[in-house]
Amino acid sequence: MLKKQKAIITGATSGIGKEIAIQFVKNGAHVAILGTNEEKAKEVLKKLEDIKKEDQKVLYKLVDVSKTLDVEKVFIDIIKELDGIDILINNAGITKDNFLIRISEEDWDRVIAVNLKSLYNTSKVVLRYMMKKKYGRIINISSVVGIIGNAAQTNYAASKAGIIGFSKSLAKEVAKKNIYVNCIAPGFIETKMTKNLPDKVKEKLLSNISMNRFGSSLDVANVAMFLASNLSNYITGQVICVDGGMVM
Ligand code: NAD
Repeated sequence: MLKKQKAIITGATSGIGKEIAIQFVKNGAHVAILGTNEEKAKEVLKKLEDIKKEDQKVLYKLVDVSKTLDVEKVFIDIIKELDGIDILINNAGITKDNFLIRISEEDWDRVIAVNLKSLYNTSKVVLRYMMKKKYGRIINISSVVGIIGNAAQTNYAASKAGIIGFSKSLAKEVAKKNIYVNCIAPGFIETKMTKNLPDKVKEKLLSNISMNRFGSSLDVANVAMFLASNLSNYITGQVICVDGGMVM
């Protein structure tokens, strides 16, 4: 479905980003994965090399997505290596949960920088190429928390709601250039990010999920596949919740 498409996926050394990378490679894309941990990046790269076809390129780079100049340099290198760019998945994200009165300024700034400022950093670079080519798909991973809020996550919720505002605005700016910008808002997906939540919290969350089960990274990756492919050719500025029926 993505044959010869060139994709960059941030935060692809684990969880949802890793699964998106696997599905994209299985479907014929050339894929660059980004992360901050070299050991994990090499592990994922090995997996991608095992499943790719001979003519497919896969590579990894390390970069902190909150650092504007570093992102620009790394992205330019990747785009040279891939010989272009068609798809950007902004997936890297962190949580630093606490009640607002206890969130330090440092933790506030860090969550906003990694989760939201990163979209400014990455999108600005790829758009230079996408606008020239008059083709591009940008998919931003938000969260249901950015829509309905969650106690002890004001910083995370603000960043994820910001992603939605950013995406809708950018979608309006670039739609005429055949560049579409959409969001996926996952609910509760079983990854490292959610693994350590106490059982009581998980039980409470489950009671708010109509399907009465948590989601998998594959559930999110399948929607990323749809939004990256021509199957979604008349869709931009949208938020698709992948949440088993939490937000309706
Ligand atoms: P994860 O912790 O497995 O993945 C996060 C990825 O982001 C990791 O690969 C990590 O290395 C990378 N990352 C963190 N800080 C970075 C930085 N400064 N620079 C570059 N990369 C950085 O968690 P996940 O659950 O796979 O989360 C992926 C995305 O999905 C995140 O944006 C998260 O907010 C969002 N999300 C997850 C859930 C869930 O239930 N798991 C729900 C809603 C949204």
